Amino acid sequence: MRIALVAHDQKKEAMIKLAREHHAFLNAQQLVATATTGAQLSALTGLTVAQVLSGPQGGDAQISAMVATGQIDVVVFLRDPLTAQPHEPDITALLRICDVHDVPLATNLGTARALLAACSQLPGSCGCA
Ligand code: PGA
Repeated sequence: MRIALVAHDQKKEAMIKLAREHHAFLNAQQLVATATTGAQLSALTGLTVAQVLSGPQGGDAQISAMVATGQIDVVVFLRDPLTAQPHEPDITALLRICDVHDVPLATNLGTARALLAACSQLPGSCGCA
């Protein structure tokens, strides 16, 4: 499974927590993240994470393109709804493109936990099948 991980600055701690909770599952998937989120995930959890650009530099747009072209199965995008983001148009586009293509998208920790738990129950999801 190809999973994209993005977290706004105020949500990066929550992303690390999520990754630790679901480490065994995530470790068996192909992960891609925006640059800062990916760097923190690699450094703090040991997961192997491919990186695109940082969100404000176009990373969200890169992930949108991957979703649109069928290269991503699941998106976890932990958004900070309380802080204005300079790249808001790109964020909105990513949410939209997931809905256009029916790609599962979690935008908060609660939904992300439920989504990853559900994904980990799918046959072969452990990477050992
Ligand atoms: P970052 O980008 O992981 O590079 O911080 C995330 C975002 O702000 O969309």
